[in-house]
Amino acid sequence: MDDCATCDTAGVPSAGSLPWDIDATTKALIQRVRAGRMRELRHDVPLDDMVALLESDQHYTISSFMECLDCGRVLAWQLCIRGNPILRHADVEEVDRWRWSPVPPRERWARS
Ligand SMILES: [Zn+2]
Repeated sequence: MDDCATCDTAGVPSAGSLPWDIDATTKALIQRVRAGRMRELRHDVPLDDMVALLESDQHYTISSFMECLDCGRVLAWQLCIRGNPILRHADVEEVDRWRWSPVPPRERWARS
């Protein structure tokens, strides 16, 4: 399959030791959702809130599954405390199979 111009280009490599630049990749995904090129399927928190929750250290793995409206595949973006961020394609079945865990109330970690 040829690279998809929407989902295969979302990951922004990090200049440091992480595989992906967390802020820039999250922004790239938000831009694609706002442009109607992807849609959020299921997540711990919306893309806009992922980095704030990560920085609060209150949720071990923060996952967001999105559907690429260009190629139809599902993309997973996962931020982990003290781990590498993961950007990968996933089977649609995984969206519900993922072991979702409760997120602390937003007022405990949100920036605004
Ligand atoms: Zn795609």
